[in-house]
Amino acid sequence: MPAATGMARSLCIFAVAVAAGCVTQPPPAPDAARSRCGTAPIFAEGAERSTLWIRHSAEFRAASETIYRAAEAALAQGLADPGRSAEPAQTGDFSLLPPAVVMDIDETVLDNAAVQVRMLLDETCFAEFAAVWDAWVAERAAPAVPGAAEFVRAARKMTDARGRPVRIFFITNRECSRRAGDDSACPQQDDTAANLRALGLDAAALADDLMLKGERPDWAGEKLSRRVEVAKSYRIVLNVGDDLADFLPGVRRQGVPERERARCAHDARWGRQWFMIPNPMYGSWLVALGPDAGAALAAAPPVLQDCKRPSAPPSL
Ligand SMILES: [Mg+2]
Repeated sequence: MPAATGMARSLCIFAVAVAAGCVTQPPPAPDAARSRCGTAPIFAEGAERSTLWIRHSAEFRAASETIYRAAEAALAQGLADPGRSAEPAQTGDFSLLPPAVVMDIDETVLDNAAVQVRMLLDETCFAEFAAVWDAWVAERAAPAVPGAAEFVRAARKMTDARGRPVRIFFITNRECSRRAGDDSACPQQDDTAANLRALGLDAAALADDLMLKGERPDWAGEKLSRRVEVAKSYRIVLNVGDDLADFLPGVRRQGVPERERARCAHDARWGRQWFMIPNPMYGSWLVALGPDAGAALAAAPPVLQDCKRPSAPPSL
């Protein structure tokens, strides 16, 4: 889940006004939550429609399953080509290494829309987010993102040309943090493993396959160091995430134009080695827009229309 992100209420009001053909809308009246939160907005403000899409639409489930089935097909192709890696930082001769898939957890494998709903209904303040989120992790109750469990089970049954099975590494920014009354240095790892097991995603080395933020001193929010750790011993065949920062370093604090250039710079990887699950609820895309949703709506998006798309799959 997110670092503190939230779309200003003005976006929601603007969208409703456009849909209803309204000319003007009165400014929102201060409410109990706003005053309880001080001057800061509530955490999930503005996320009503996107949360409903994740929770209730057949369209999201179909989209997610579409992506995961395409990822499974791409994994089979990638396993047959030992000369290719999905990690730009993986260099040298990795052709003899056993195969691995790297996946994010939240909104990639585990669906946390239920806690997003909880935060919307409870009007959770930014300052309350960390505690609410950690309590949700401790519940171990997140369902699977559509298609994710089927993909993980299928991937683990696949082998490379030498007959070696695919290992799945879950690189997540769920953060190791001590809890009162718990001796574990990282109860969040036990919780996440238990949640995955409850979904039938057990594995002999599941705890070792989970790589949490803060588990080691150099495992910060930036995920590159963890992908590099995997790449020391495995050829990374595929990467699945819901945020540009699951694939590339340095994009979390970039603006929209820079992120668009980063997307284009790796255009040939999308849908072949990199698979992005839609997450309209939160993410670094929202941080990149800045705090003024009205200004973002008024601006023309700096979309690059001329990413070079090769006519044939390149050798990556
Ligand atoms: Mg995620």
